[in-house]
Amino acid sequence: MPSISLDTVNRTLLCLSEIGAATVVEGSGDAKRFDGNLQRHQHFKCVKCKRIVDFYHKAFDNIEVPESVRERFVVLRKTVYFEGICDLCSKGR
Ligand SMILES: [Zn+2]
Ligand SMILES: [Zn+2]
Repeated sequence: MPSISLDTVNRTLLCLSEIGAATVVEGSGDAKRFDGNLQRHQHFKCVKCKRIVDFYHKAFDNIEVPESVRERFVVLRKTVYFEGICDLCSKGR
């Protein structure tokens, strides 16, 4: 690894998120998590090791927004976010 400071990385990522090239991963706690994966995908967060894993399930591309929500809000982004125990943790270390 070339010596690139974490600060530089963070600043680069902040710029990327400003232009919408990366999105901050929701629910990832205090440390800001950035997502360089621009394909449609969903996230799974392990509550044990805090790992955030990308996965993709086609059906989640077209989540229906309930009418009660549509009446009140303009939905710009719909994300599916799971939380649980990942494969590594459930196997026991
Ligand atoms: Zn885990
Ligand atoms: Zn992701």
